[in-house]
Amino acid sequence: MDRLAIVVPCYNEEEMLPITTKELTEVLENLIRKEKVAKDSYILYVDDGSKDATWELIEKLHKENDKVFGLKLAGNVGHQYALTAGMIQAKENSDIMISIDADLQDDTLVMEEMVDKYHEGCDIVYGVRNDRKKDSFFKRTTAQMFYKVMAAMGVKTVYNHADYRLMSKRAIEHFSNYEEVNLYLRGIMPLIGYQTESVFYERKERIAGESKYPLKKMLALAWNGITSFSVKPINFIAVLGIVITFLCILAAVYAFVSYSKGTVVPGWTSLILSIWLLGGLQLFAIGIIGQYIGKIYMEVKHRPRYNVETYLTHDK
Ligand code: UDP
Ligand code: MG
Repeated sequence: MDRLAIVVPCYNEEEMLPITTKELTEVLENLIRKEKVAKDSYILYVDDGSKDATWELIEKLHKENDKVFGLKLAGNVGHQYALTAGMIQAKENSDIMISIDADLQDDTLVMEEMVDKYHEGCDIVYGVRNDRKKDSFFKRTTAQMFYKVMAAMGVKTVYNHADYRLMSKRAIEHFSNYEEVNLYLRGIMPLIGYQTESVFYERKERIAGESKYPLKKMLALAWNGITSFSVKPINFIAVLGIVITFLCILAAVYAFVSYSKGTVVPGWTSLILSIWLLGGLQLFAIGIIGQYIGKIYMEVKHRPRYNVETYLTHDK
């Protein structure tokens, strides 16, 4: 029987944890009763350097409830790293991992469906919100804009999927080869490969506490998502340089016509042409340098280049 670990990053979540523990314990007991996961499946809380009583609460819950495990990070490193720490820990002593936010805005009912898909052979199962009516208008529109921009930038991501997902042990093992510091988990997952599927649910409101993702953190995550996976912004500079250099030719025609009509002040023609030409060439040159920097950037990430799934052999 496969052992399940539910990984929950927590930052100042003292109001939520008792509620979360009750609900997740019920989910686990249900899955155990139906013999879909092992009896020793557990919840792993990762305390991301909380400033309130979150860790004391986790210690207390751990004493009372044999399903509660805890991992305390020494300081606040942010949701993406806290989640990674939990995943890496979970792969040591579980076969399946499901990550979910502490506020349970994501529907725990679909966990069973996720586990079913795992048993059908999926290594990654994405939780996808098919309805964001409960999110504020602002959060909804900015989030959707972000998914569109990501797609335009050529980054493969699952639309409307946050970090609510199931991963098999071997998927996390491959993931742990991604050693990049600028982490954007949702961008890495599609690179892992294996059979993946999505389950759909309605996103709920936060029951207690407030969002730990203010606009500033959201923008930082979005920017990180784009710049960690795409060098298109650099290509854009190079293209802009070429376009401006060509526009310079049009400007040259215009400048010479004006010059031949004698309607210009002496010096204007050469001045205006050099501004256009130099501007274009400079942007183009920056773009070229950028291409190399983009390559260096991708190299230093040391990302695994492939993921071998099966090897058929006759060797003993
Ligand atoms: N979180 C974290 N470290 C941080 C910020 C947030 O571990 O620095 C956790 C938080 O406790 C929650 C999850 O990340 O479990 C998502 O945060 P939140 O629900 O506040 O984000 P929102 O749903 O508003 O985007
Ligand atoms: Mg939330």
